Amino acid sequence: MMKQPLQLVFAQNNRSLLQATTTFESLDKVDWQQVSCLLLDATDISTAYAALVKLRQNSLPHCYLRPVVFVANTERHNGWQWHAADAVLVLQGEHLLDPALVPDNLETINRWIDNLPQQERGADGHLQVKVLRLLASRQTSAEPQATPSNYNGYVYPLLQPVFSLQDMGVMQTLGFLEQQNLLSATLFDRAHFCIHCDSAFLNFKETCVACGSHDLDVVELVHHFSCGFTADITRFKAGGDALICPKCDKHLRHIGVDYDKPSTVNKCRLCQHVSQDGNVVAKCFNCDCSTEARFLDVRRINSYKLTSVGLNAAFYGLKTYFTDILENELQLLSLREFELFANAEAARIARYGKSQSALAVVRFVGLDKIQMELGSKAKQIFTELADIFKSILRETDIITAYNESMFAILMPETSQNNAALALNRLQKAVEQLFSENFDRSLDIQQHALAVTSELQVRDALERFLNQ
Ligand SMILES: [Zn+2]
Ligand SMILES: [Zn+2]
Ligand SMILES: [Zn+2]
Repeated sequence: MMKQPLQLVFAQNNRSLLQATTTFESLDKVDWQQVSCLLLDATDISTAYAALVKLRQNSLPHCYLRPVVFVANTERHNGWQWHAADAVLVLQGEHLLDPALVPDNLETINRWIDNLPQQERGADGHLQVKVLRLLASRQTSAEPQATPSNYNGYVYPLLQPVFSLQDMGVMQTLGFLEQQNLLSATLFDRAHFCIHCDSAFLNFKETCVACGSHDLDVVELVHHFSCGFTADITRFKAGGDALICPKCDKHLRHIGVDYDKPSTVNKCRLCQHVSQDGNVVAKCFNCDCSTEARFLDVRRINSYKLTSVGLNAAFYGLKTYFTDILENELQLLSLREFELFANAEAARIARYGKSQSALAVVRFVGLDKIQMELGSKAKQIFTELADIFKSILRETDIITAYNESMFAILMPETSQNNAALALNRLQKAVEQLFSENFDRSLDIQQHALAVTSELQVRDALERFLNQ
């Protein structure tokens, strides 16, 4: 059977394209093998874009990588948000959408998702991997687009929906991936940014070199041939149809014969100072600060394409310092092994009914960001973080990394309450580590639950990640 597009219903008023009733809540029941792409009714582009953001911020590759098509009722598509989807279909008249109109090339994206190694299909809340995967699955590069709606002037429409407000920006992430040789850059443009607020919206103007005022007149310079006197035109009095030279009092009648006008100059209306070149100052539309142009931040705006290393990382994921260090120090288990242990533990408890065990989950929000910010110093943080884990976990505890910033710990013979206490100790110690040594905070989310026969480890972790 031919694959069909699936209309995602995300608002009351957009159920009209196909007879479909797929909502965000029912997405995990979708049989993706039957689906060619997700359709979003883009009659209102801002709500359609918000729905796209929700899809792209999901942590499961088979969801966030899925081809998404905006369906529009007009040919006029203003704004970069239109370029954030994989395609735009325009609905003609009142007709329902013809599934045959869905572009064939979207199927290559589905094939890319199908080819992901089995163990890499689990959640990845990791921005860098998401960026690499979006580019790899679309066989495309990250192309910047100039926009007045973004205060730093550029946006990468395909990648923007992946980033939430708390995340490091798209540009920084792309720059980091370039440093790691996962992407290669090609210059797209050079742009000036405010050094105070990063805004690209700057008003460049010349100011008086003597007093700093921007109240300047551009006036002509007059050069009297016979006496050699040169000054701005306001210094020459007008005498009938001629100018009168203030130095020799002669009349200047014919341009090219008596005098010429070699150039224009800036004359300050405040202090009368005349100069050839004013000081160029940029006033920021966003923060109101003025900065001399030579002190502005000049940055390269690049388009980025995947390197072969990047393509590999898109497929197999990125290892981070922290998981590497934990693997060595704490004998990190794979998620599969961890699930087997948890299931055995649940069965043991159900059978004997004598003891209780707990599953503890902890997430360090933005741990990947820290790695980017600190570069090589990140290793020190992660070593100390691993030490904290070691000091709080017991020999019998079992730990796995769900992704690069989220960890699950199976605590045998531990009540839910005691697991919560251990997590609180862990959180306090980590917060202290960051505030005392690194002069910054780290947002930590944690949760403890009892191990029962109903517990599905993967589901529980996924719920925690997407809450
Ligand atoms: Zn002046
Ligand atoms: Zn003269
Ligand atoms: Zn500014």
